[in-house]
Amino acid sequence: MGIKDESKNLTVSKKVIKKAKTLKVEEIGEFMWLVSGGTEPHVVQPSLENPAGFFCDCLAYQYRGVCSHILAVELHLKGGEK
Ligand SMILES: [Zn+2]
Repeated sequence: MGIKDESKNLTVSKKVIKKAKTLKVEEIGEFMWLVSGGTEPHVVQPSLENPAGFFCDCLAYQYRGVCSHILAVELHLKGGEK
């Protein structure tokens, strides 16, 4: 199990989800969010090209196509649902 974890899929670890819940999401425009609380703030925007549906300017996103900031925005949009 977990053999695909290192490939570029959208699997996120529980650690990332846990981190996402600690981040602060601020709406800075229409469909634009500033996510802070990590090492540095990042801007998340919707992306039609990405399967995750969002774009982030952080390194983790460039690596995996998804990151804690995007998760934080998703959680924010769901209204803090667990
Ligand atoms: Zn990010």
